[in-house]
Amino acid sequence: MNSAVDPLSYDLDGVRDRALRERGGAVDDSIPELADADPDLLGIALVTLDGETRETAQAGMQISIQSAVKPFLFALALQDHGAAALDRLGIEPTGEAFDAIKLESGTGRPPNPMVNAGALLTSALVDGADAAARSRRILAGLSAFAGRDLSVSESVAESEHLLGDRNHALAHLMRSEGTLQVGADEAVAVYARACAVLVDARDLAAMGATLAAGGRNPLTGVEVVGADVARDVVSVMATCGVYDGSGRWMRQVGVPAKSSVSGAIVLAAPAALGAAVVSPPLDEQGTSVRGHHVSEVLSRELGLHAFAMP
Ligand code: GLN
Repeated sequence: MNSAVDPLSYDLDGVRDRALRERGGAVDDSIPELADADPDLLGIALVTLDGETRETAQAGMQISIQSAVKPFLFALALQDHGAAALDRLGIEPTGEAFDAIKLESGTGRPPNPMVNAGALLTSALVDGADAAARSRRILAGLSAFAGRDLSVSESVAESEHLLGDRNHALAHLMRSEGTLQVGADEAVAVYARACAVLVDARDLAAMGATLAAGGRNPLTGVEVVGADVARDVVSVMATCGVYDGSGRWMRQVGVPAKSSVSGAIVLAAPAALGAAVVSPPLDEQGTSVRGHHVSEVLSRELGLHAFAMP
C-alpha cells in the first residue's frame, strides 16, 4: 500500500460528517423493507490486515446484504467446486444492469458472478443436498467471512422470493439453457435468503478484509477460502463489481468492490485492507451515492488506488 495516511490514525468521522452533507440518489423500492430504509444512515468501517478496526457512528447499523453477497457466494462456489465452477459461468463485464435478462451468447451461461444470473448460479453451486442445506452452508460461510454469527431477515427473504420476478425469469431461462441444475424456484429461494442476511459496515469491512488478505479472516485467523479463490474473486470484483458503472468506479476509486441495492459497498484493497460504507440512496446504476463518494475519498487519502503512480 502506498499509504499517504495511516488508516489507524485516519479521521474517519470527519469523512462521514462531510459525506452527510451530500444529498442525492434515491432509496431502492423493490421490496417494502428496502423502501423503509433511512436515507440519512451512513456507516463506515475499515479492517486492516493486522485485524485492527476503525469505524464511525452507525457502523453497527444493520441492513440486508443484498448484492454485496455476490463476491462471497462466488467464493464459496469456487471453494466447494474448485476451478470447475469457472466452466459454469463467464467472468466478462456486461455493461448492463444487474438484473438484465441476458445470458452469454452461445453458451447460455451467466455472464459473470456479480450480476443476478451469476449469483443465482453460484448460490446453486454451493455444497448442500437441498435448498435448506445450501442456505445453511451460505450462512455459515458468510459468518466465517464476517467473523461472527450472522442471521437472516425472514421478511426480506420472503419479499425477495415473492417479488423477485426478474430472478424467477433468469432462473427459468438458465433451466431452459441447461445451465442451472437445480429447480428454478429453489434457486431463487436460496439466492433470496442469501440477499436477506443482515450485516453492518463492520461485518462487511471484515468480509472485504478477508478477501484482501487472501482468504484468511484477519479478526479470527480462520482461513475461510484459499488464496487462489480470494484472488479470483477480487479480480472479478474489479471488472464487474459495480455492474455497468465498473469502468467509472475503477477510474475514480480503483479498489475492487461490490455495490448493492441496500446501499452497502464492500471494498477489498488487496494486501492493504477491507472497508465498507453503508448509505441507502442510490444512483442510476444502483450504487450508493455517498458510498461512492466516501470510497473515492478513502482511496485517495489512504493511497489505495490500484493504478496510482508513484
Ligand atoms: N435482491 C436484489 C435482487 O436480486 C439484489 C440486487 C442488488 O443488490 N443489486 O434483485
